[in-house]
Amino acid sequence: MSIIDEIFKLKKERDAVILAHNYQRGEVQDIADYTGDSLGLSQKAVDIEAKVIVFCGVDFMAESAAVLNPDKTVLNPKPEAKCPMAEMITADALRAFKKEHPGAATVCYVNSSAAVKAESDICCTSSNSIKVVNSLEQDEVIFVPDYNLAMYTQRFTAKKIYPWNGFCPTHHQITAGDVLVSRMEHPGAEVVVHPECRQEVIDLADGVYSTDGMLKYAKTTDKDLIIGTEVGIIHRLKKENPGRNFYPVSGYVVCPNMKMITLETVRDSLRDMRTPISVPEDIRIKAKNALDKMLAAGRGEK
Ligand code: SF4
Repeated sequence: MSIIDEIFKLKKERDAVILAHNYQRGEVQDIADYTGDSLGLSQKAVDIEAKVIVFCGVDFMAESAAVLNPDKTVLNPKPEAKCPMAEMITADALRAFKKEHPGAATVCYVNSSAAVKAESDICCTSSNSIKVVNSLEQDEVIFVPDYNLAMYTQRFTAKKIYPWNGFCPTHHQITAGDVLVSRMEHPGAEVVVHPECRQEVIDLADGVYSTDGMLKYAKTTDKDLIIGTEVGIIHRLKKENPGRNFYPVSGYVVCPNMKMITLETVRDSLRDMRTPISVPEDIRIKAKNALDKMLAAGRGEK
């Protein structure tokens, strides 16, 4: 039996669904029931009726699914797959930061631990950060952990944002030079980048989108696209837009953490029911509150 047949058989036996982030390996995306960005997958996790969710992403994503679905078993096929950006802030550090800015609301990008979410008023994703910040009553906003997303959001709000100094190592290494060189290599192609990129990269782009935003935008244009985000998304862009050209802005925009999940780890996860994610109930309830508020705010502009 092929490994894919094994996965499908186990999935049926376990009453499981497989969710995969847009940055996962192509073969993992191909066996998933749903692929998407953080917000899309969070919403999907709530709607799913299956007993088991296998979350193919990094640790905070499986944790968010567990926070939103206490009655389901959420499995993380590779708990070692962590997000370095999420690890750049702790709940203690956030509590101290909040003391420096009393009266400010706290917005937390979903790329964060449940403990940090629990300390926040509301979560956001890269697609709805502007909508979330502008929905707040307060005129001052603490924004953690991504500095680049905070600064991008600042462009679209009159509120004063106090950013945490975290960053995504994968997006942060994209340079203005990469954009200029790729434009020369692919004349006529448009450059679309993720808001986790540096501000000078964003300034040079034709468009700034979340991963799902890029997938939607690709369907509205016939142009070739230079992609300024993790290369995993190019698999889906090509699959959904056959015959079109999508070029990575550079050859090294790879998140090694996202690539830790393989077909073998998904198969083993379903076979051995590992690794179930649990979040302490007091943290779960507070983190769920921040995520629920975000889900109520809905998908953003991009
Ligand atoms: S791409 Fe960046 S933000 Fe996403 S999981 Fe990897 S390190 Fe974290």
